[in-house]
Amino acid sequence: MLSRKYLVLSMSCILLSLCSSALYATEPQNLQITKNTLINYHDSGAYEQDIDAVVYQAQAYLSEVIAEQQKQKSKEKLAIVFDIDETVLSSYDQMHRLTFGGTLDEINRLTAEERNAPVIPAALALYKQALKENVHIFFITGRHNTSQQQKNTVQNLHAAGFTQYDGLMMKPVNYNKPSASIYKTAMRKKITDQGYHIVLNIGDQMSDLRGGYADRTYKLPNPYYYIP
Ligand SMILES: [Mg+2]
Repeated sequence: MLSRKYLVLSMSCILLSLCSSALYATEPQNLQITKNTLINYHDSGAYEQDIDAVVYQAQAYLSEVIAEQQKQKSKEKLAIVFDIDETVLSSYDQMHRLTFGGTLDEINRLTAEERNAPVIPAALALYKQALKENVHIFFITGRHNTSQQQKNTVQNLHAAGFTQYDGLMMKPVNYNKPSASIYKTAMRKKITDQGYHIVLNIGDQMSDLRGGYADRTYKLPNPYYYIP
């Protein structure tokens, strides 16, 4: 009798243990370890390498497009669209200072206010290639279109080497759509309606790239934040 009771008790313990481990089997990675991984991704140079690899493909594609345009003697007004943060300028220092916390608005505001976000070198190389080939340059950013943010952004772009471009489009302060892609798509449509042919659109969020009005899109890595 005792051994039967013992058996039932043992089985209950095993079942309870299985249930418990099922409950906790998907425990997320520890936050500090995640932050260390993010720091290491940047400090090891892997982040920059991953950016370089994507931009290299974009540059190769742009070269192909230019060669084809010259062959066809086309007079089409070709254009490139760049996002700004984590595409041509890096907010890493601000994110690191906020210990990878804070809201996206806080990160953006801090980066814009400080006006010293460093350039992302590969993006500058793509920009220079486009300029050299007379491809028109547009920036479409989620930064707000207040006069102060605009002034700070222009100043930072200039300091980073982006001194010539055809347009800088900034998101309205009262924008309340669920995704940035609605605004960004509308801006690309506007550029297209003005007679430009957008051959390439590059950004670090899928919301920079969805919605069409570009022949090719290039997604840069960004494990630091997400913009729907
Ligand atoms: Mg961005």
